[in-house]
Amino acid sequence: MNLIEAVKNAGIVGAGGAGFPTHVKLSAKAQVFIINAAECEPLIETDKYLMRTFPNEIVKAAEIIAEHIGAERKVLALKSKYQREIEALQQAIIETDSSFQLVKMKSFYPAGDEQTLVQLVTGRSVPERGLPLDVGSVVSNVGTMLNVYQALQGSPVTDKYLSVVGEVANPIMLYVPVGTSLQDCIDQACPLLEEYDIVVGGPMMGKVYRGDAIQSLTVTKTTGNIIVLPKNHYLVKCAELSLSSIIAQTRSACIQCKMCTDMCPRFLIGHKIRPNMVMRNMYRERLIASNDEYETIFGEAANCCDCGICEMFACPMSLSPRKVNIFIKTQLAARGIKPERNKNPEASADLQYRRIPTERLVARLDLMKYYHFHAEECITLRPAQVSLLIKQHIGAPGIPCVSVGDKVQKGDLIVRAKDDSLSASVHASIEGKVTLIDGERIVIDKEKE
Ligand code: SF4
Ligand code: SF4
Repeated sequence: MNLIEAVKNAGIVGAGGAGFPTHVKLSAKAQVFIINAAECEPLIETDKYLMRTFPNEIVKAAEIIAEHIGAERKVLALKSKYQREIEALQQAIIETDSSFQLVKMKSFYPAGDEQTLVQLVTGRSVPERGLPLDVGSVVSNVGTMLNVYQALQGSPVTDKYLSVVGEVANPIMLYVPVGTSLQDCIDQACPLLEEYDIVVGGPMMGKVYRGDAIQSLTVTKTTGNIIVLPKNHYLVKCAELSLSSIIAQTRSACIQCKMCTDMCPRFLIGHKIRPNMVMRNMYRERLIASNDEYETIFGEAANCCDCGICEMFACPMSLSPRKVNIFIKTQLAARGIKPERNKNPEASADLQYRRIPTERLVARLDLMKYYHFHAEECITLRPAQVSLLIKQHIGAPGIPCVSVGDKVQKGDLIVRAKDDSLSASVHASIEGKVTLIDGERIVIDKEKE
């Protein structure tokens, strides 16, 4: 079996958050292969734990992939403050006779954004709404490398490492079957509050879930972190604001200071995106009938990557250019507008001076009291039930290939990737009986002994 087949059969998707099917990403040739080890957002511990615990496996898989895609330059990019991780990887590079080079970055947000990383490592800006491959690069995450290593040993993706931090007595690293209840994971960390809300992912790009909605959530292949927060925390309050309030505030309170544009990482790598201009024109958004005019005024919003710097850090008026851009993107799609792309952007000379230091961001987000946890040990959970989403990736869902009542072993295929589209397989993450299949998920219960 070749590498691509092994990766596809194992159901590997980008473990760093987006969930792009890895076999598709690796079916290309590229000059540069970058392992994204930056752990982009604060408060996430997972990639650092993996680098300290499995450095040899990560480097070995990375070498195999680099050879497969024909990369001449091989880079492991991480923050220079990750001293223990740097030592572990340096040792692994020596022990495995690897030619990977460590690129050590300052601690800034969004260091792990693919396009920011490619620009930093290669000096080239990815085209607007393009891929790293457009400038000869492939980027993959350290968690994905570990999954590739295990796939080459014959093991599909069945388990996930994740951290649980925030308002808890015991911030922890967990190793759990995919499909484990998020509530079970949270309980392991012992929340300090009766009532709380959570962010799944990082504080900037993760999603806030409130109250009863938490009960139905389960671990997916892309879940890397849970932050438990008080119900009145700044991040929760930001997530509560309705779109109509956000738009009303935009129309009345934007002072056109332009800070959102000056700090926007996409603007800084040369993309045409000026959130202040979108904000300035929101007063007449509903009045524009002509699609050409709409594209001229609002088309730039299509280049927003949703990083959140404009709303969570830059804006002195606590406005939300990010959410306005998300709204505008839905309007562009509804009107059938596909804005022109600049395929040869050039980074601003100011780029390196306008990076947001991680600690300042953490302070701004009121998360400093949770910031200094470092996962030393990992607890393994073995739940009696898992609920696996049929679609855990970007693209089309696969096709369930089990029925209610079937007995499955851990690692058995339960959802087959579609061959004719971007898709990914899913495997049983525990041994047991299939007890439910609906349009979204497959539930497996451990059988009583
Ligand atoms: S930073 Fe805020 S106030 Fe300033 S231009 Fe942008 S949205 Fe308006
Ligand atoms: S969220 Fe804001 S800062 Fe980030 S890319 Fe979009 S406009 Fe720029």
